[in-house]
Amino acid sequence: MNDCIFCKIASKEAPAEILFETERVITFLDINPINYGHTLIIPKEHYREFHEIPEEISKELIIVTSKLTKAILESLKPHGYNIFTNNGRFAGQAIMHCHFHIVPRFLNDGFKFRPHPKSYKQNEMKQYGDLIREKIKN
Ligand code: AMP
Ligand code: ZN
Repeated sequence: MNDCIFCKIASKEAPAEILFETERVITFLDINPINYGHTLIIPKEHYREFHEIPEEISKELIIVTSKLTKAILESLKPHGYNIFTNNGRFAGQAIMHCHFHIVPRFLNDGFKFRPHPKSYKQNEMKQYGDLIREKIKN
């Protein structure tokens, strides 16, 4: 049995404030928003993390995220917005059904990213660049 709450929202077995859906993607309001209007975008099919989502579905996810971003900007008139996805327990993923967040941001709303940014030492940036470039697949 699938106990995933986001699967249940996708199949309409669990309630949610649904904003929009396509064949493979559904979007709804986050129940505990960082700011009001905080929106989640998910594939209807269960994928745990972003890298597991097939390319065609991730395209649809991005297109719907863009559409919802524009609707949030026009309706709520935030000063800015964040789009992010937490993947894995150590990245703060609480619901193990991959989702994108759109968070409308307002002046002095108190939400902070990157409290302790790092810097690279000499050559380190190129070394990290090489490591990643080697694994980029066509
Ligand atoms: P994450 O930490 O990226 O896994 O975020 C999970 C998000 O899902 C949190 O922002 C929760 O507030 C939100 N959430 C959890 N359960 C529900 C639900 N039933 N309906 C809407 N949002 C939910
Ligand atoms: Zn699920």
